Amino acid sequence: MSLLVAGKAPATDVSSPLEEARAQLAAAVGVLGYGEGLHKLLGTPRRELTVGIPLRRDDGSTEVLTGYRVQHNFSRGPAKGGVRYAPNVDLDEVRALAMWMTWKCALLDLPYGGAKGGITLDPRNYSKAELERVTRRYTSEILPLIGPERDIPAPDIGTDEQTMAWMMDTYSVASGYTVPAVVTGKPVSVGGSLGRASATSRGVVTVALAALAHRGLKPERTTAAVQGFGKVGAGVARFLAEAGVAVVAVADQYGAVHNSAGLDIPGLEAHTAATGSVVGFAGAEALAEELLELDVDLLVPAAVEGVLNESNAHRIKAEVIVEGANGPTTAAADKVFAAAGKLVVPDILANAGGVVVSYFEWVQGSNAYWWSAAEVEDRLKARMLAAWDGVTATAAERGLSLREAATVTAVQRVAEAHQIRGLYP
Ligand code: NAD
Repeated sequence: MSLLVAGKAPATDVSSPLEEARAQLAAAVGVLGYGEGLHKLLGTPRRELTVGIPLRRDDGSTEVLTGYRVQHNFSRGPAKGGVRYAPNVDLDEVRALAMWMTWKCALLDLPYGGAKGGITLDPRNYSKAELERVTRRYTSEILPLIGPERDIPAPDIGTDEQTMAWMMDTYSVASGYTVPAVVTGKPVSVGGSLGRASATSRGVVTVALAALAHRGLKPERTTAAVQGFGKVGAGVARFLAEAGVAVVAVADQYGAVHNSAGLDIPGLEAHTAATGSVVGFAGAEALAEELLELDVDLLVPAAVEGVLNESNAHRIKAEVIVEGANGPTTAAADKVFAAAGKLVVPDILANAGGVVVSYFEWVQGSNAYWWSAAEVEDRLKARMLAAWDGVTATAAERGLSLREAATVTAVQRVAEAHQIRGLYP
């Protein structure tokens, strides 16, 4: 099988995430009938910062890394978005991810705009002490942009709760007091929310089950494949299995495993925690084919952008595709899927559970009053299902795909906020 190296472009015929994001915006603007000026305003990041990050390596040498923070839009509230550590991070990718965050927050009716950040580095090549120094220096460099009322970072690929704890501490030291609400996705012991770690996966599975029901598919008679076994993919596999779906294949950047009777997901999680990869799991065989092209009912790409593209779209067999990752499907693949009658649940809806519970975490942190896990889960589910109902209703009314309906809804909300505030000066 042709497994991809993490962070590398998946195929040569794929347009960049930024081109994809801009094409999606252009399509929504076309449906809404907006003029060129508003289109340009909605497509242009409001702030971008590129920073050099000098790092003292453990061997005493100095390396200079590059980091970014892009605030795409904040008409509806403070900017919000993850921080990615990966070897292919560049300004254009961060711009695309920031734009998607704007739409995601608007679609879920959260009082936020969109942002994203990242550092071009492969975290596997750095010690924990080096990653702490990189994170703290990056945080200091972007300090003027972030804050609980300005821009609130969260984890993404290659970052985690520990990264957020270092960012929160660095910001708090500079402020002179503890500011938990400057980041979300923190450990619970320093003001994180119960249920945040699993929120994206829970949200993906909530809409995946709604999508299966929409197609008349019963979970216990459904098979699924999940690409990516990290913070999002592992939880997706676990919650799908708990709902009765047979998760027959899972891939990470090192390889893929398969069991036609359904994988033992808790066992696979334990194996991955111990070895760093799904490869070699005793309860499965190595997958000889391309995971994305397996004959399953449900496919969840939960790794990187652009994996479903012109070169493989016509070989995808799954009837329902639920985007755990941001930007996994190119516009060319979307067309092939529409013609084949597949149901594609777009990223800005499907993986919004993370930012929904990030919002809950920010609200809890701002009020220093924490909710129970059950409260978080119930409110997350209600928000996800309300967004699902809204998007499917808009798609049916206007004859749009779910992606078009979701983007149109979100873009319209951002445009309304902008227009009612007016243009300064
Ligand atoms: P992560 O770093 O925790 O996990 C990424 C996983 O993908 C790993 O298992 C890695 O091995 C695998 N992977 C990487 N490249 C691959 C490839 N080419 N083929 C197969 N597997 C590959 O990251 P994450 O937080 O789980 O994020 C995954 C996706 O979900 C990203 O697109 C991210 O933007 C999106 N997302 C994450 C969150 C969140 O809360 N973490 C929220 C919304 C969206």
